[in-house]
Amino acid sequence: MPETYDAIVIGAGIIGCAIAYEMAKSRKRVLCIDRNAIAGAGSTTNSCAIIRTHYSTLNGAALAKANYPFWEDWTGYLGAAADDNLASYREVGCCYTCFEDNKYGIKLEEIANEIGIPYEVWTPSKFRAQLPIVNPGHFHPPKALSDAGFGSQNGELRYVLFFPKAGFINDPGLATQNIQAAAKRHGAEFLMGASVSDITTDGGRVTGVEVEGKGQFTAPVVVNAAGPHSFKINRMAGVEDEMNIKTKALRVEVAHVPAPADFDFENNGYICSDADIGGYWRPEIGNKILIGSEEPSCDPLEWVDPDDYETSVTDQARLQALRGAQRFPSMGIPNNVQGIADLYDVADDWIPIYDKSSLGGFYMAIGTSGNQFKNAPVVGMMMAELIDYVEDGNDHDGDPMCFALPNMDYNLDLRFFSRNREINRESSFSVVG
Ligand SMILES: Cc1cc2nc3c(=O)[nH]c(=O)nc-3n(C[C@H](O)[C@H](O)[C@H](O)COP(=O)(O)OP(=O)(O)OC[C@H]3O[C@@H](n4cnc5c(N)ncnc54)[C@H](O)[C@@H]3O)c2cc1C
Repeated sequence: MPETYDAIVIGAGIIGCAIAYEMAKSRKRVLCIDRNAIAGAGSTTNSCAIIRTHYSTLNGAALAKANYPFWEDWTGYLGAAADDNLASYREVGCCYTCFEDNKYGIKLEEIANEIGIPYEVWTPSKFRAQLPIVNPGHFHPPKALSDAGFGSQNGELRYVLFFPKAGFINDPGLATQNIQAAAKRHGAEFLMGASVSDITTDGGRVTGVEVEGKGQFTAPVVVNAAGPHSFKINRMAGVEDEMNIKTKALRVEVAHVPAPADFDFENNGYICSDADIGGYWRPEIGNKILIGSEEPSCDPLEWVDPDDYETSVTDQARLQALRGAQRFPSMGIPNNVQGIADLYDVADDWIPIYDKSSLGGFYMAIGTSGNQFKNAPVVGMMMAELIDYVEDGNDHDGDPMCFALPNMDYNLDLRFFSRNREINRESSFSVVG
């Protein structure tokens, strides 16, 4: 007889673990399956784990704001003991560079004003006063290295928005294992080192999953939280073709570059969403600067098969480092730029899909597009409620659920995350979301 559960979650990344945690809290018998031996060892492990509240859409910003208190009180969210080995949050604040082509960030200010996200407006000289190694120059549009104009400066930024309520998690893999441990305390089970090879169905409903070498596990509910493999799981379930918004795997690199030796960037640096140079940056342990891409139009996007891609860094990390050197002119660029290469699970409009599917009992929390680590706690709650809503007989496609965001007065209409939405033109179509 196959093992039977109330729900099976495919993927023990930060998203799958958060869903398993919430479902277990509401007394469901949950099994979370991952092909890796350790929770969080998928794309979550290489996340820059930046926690910020600025997004290009009101709903995106509201979801991020609702999550913020859970990172501030990680122990409380987990129901963990203070002396457990827990990931920690460091609040350093996040800058956003403003210039003509991003309409001076006015939309972000409007959103911040509407939902009460604190921010300050910094002039270029204030930016330099706050961060003495910074060049507040204006470099946009970002250019390819082969472009003769690479690095050319055109005056200064108009200003910088500074969001003080922002920071990063020191260890995203550990944060995931913390949620896994919390889920286990509520009875969730984890089957690690086990690869789902098929989704089983009967009469238009999911019945469970087939696991390589281990046979069938049955459940009336199966959740796809497989990160960059999400489209493969959707294909197994036969639901991809009916979706208006689809997902695919994007290979990205993040450079880890030593900060200028005479400045303690680790303790005095900021996070910055710096579209002016086509990237983002944040402080890292060891007085380093992490520099990632915000997908400027001059850079080709590297769509890959998540089971077959280059895992070492290439010229992309070097390009991020050189762009970073525009902002930090005293930063040396090592011959061999270190860093990481990993995958984003990108939705067509860079906004996630948190939804049911055309197959009864089959749900998805996918398309996290390089920016949903921060949202995992509330996504877990939202998915658990959505699953109850649909399994109780409600027609989510016709009469979509609204989710009351915790920690604020905001009802999030889940049509925003529907698999069948039209492309959302308000999106940045980048990791900013
Ligand atoms: C380089 C990088 C930087 C990022 N920076 C940030 C940031 O600063 N802030 C932010 O908020 N977000 C950031 N993100 C995004 C964030 O990390 C992701 O949105 C989040 O980690 C996705 O979690 P997940 O659980 O969906 O995916 P994953 O962590 O990839 O988990 C999916 C799991 O599914 C498993 N799986 C897949 N197929 C199968 C199968 N057939 N059978 C069993 N298991 C399977 C995998 O092994 C994997 O463990 C970044 C991402 C990357 C890659």
